[in-house]
Amino acid sequence: MGIAQRANKKKRVKAIHAKIKNRRKDALHKFSTQLVNNNAAIIVGDVSSTKLVKTKMAKSVLDAGWSMLKTQLEYKAIARSVVFEVVNESYSTVTCSCCGAIPDSSPKGRAGLRIREWVCSECGAEHDRDVNAASNILAAGHRRLAVGIPAL
Ligand SMILES: [Zn+2]
Repeated sequence: MGIAQRANKKKRVKAIHAKIKNRRKDALHKFSTQLVNNNAAIIVGDVSSTKLVKTKMAKSVLDAGWSMLKTQLEYKAIARSVVFEVVNESYSTVTCSCCGAIPDSSPKGRAGLRIREWVCSECGAEHDRDVNAASNILAAGHRRLAVGIPAL
């Protein structure tokens, strides 16, 4: 791609872009099919890529095709009778999934984006940032399923 861009070969650049887009789509389809086939319920957070467009994270979120993946998961889950829930993911990063506190030590704000691992100052649990947030989102999904609140 870089070589084609430097040589100013617009047609070639366009073709490479299309190829990358297709590969990504294929990979997302494989991943979403695998997730739906191997799980009875899928819970996702409600952060949309459009909400993040103004932040620095926007590019990576859009690159990852998050909204495309969510769409695929939703229709595939419905087709296979897998439970699919979208939950509010506010505070999922800052809340300790072990004790439920929002400790002083949890990653917060812009500075917190760089923190990948942290220890809860309330209960001492060690967290991987993403695993902790995912645990909180999953718990929120379970709570919703338990009380039967209709989806958004
Ligand atoms: Zn804790």
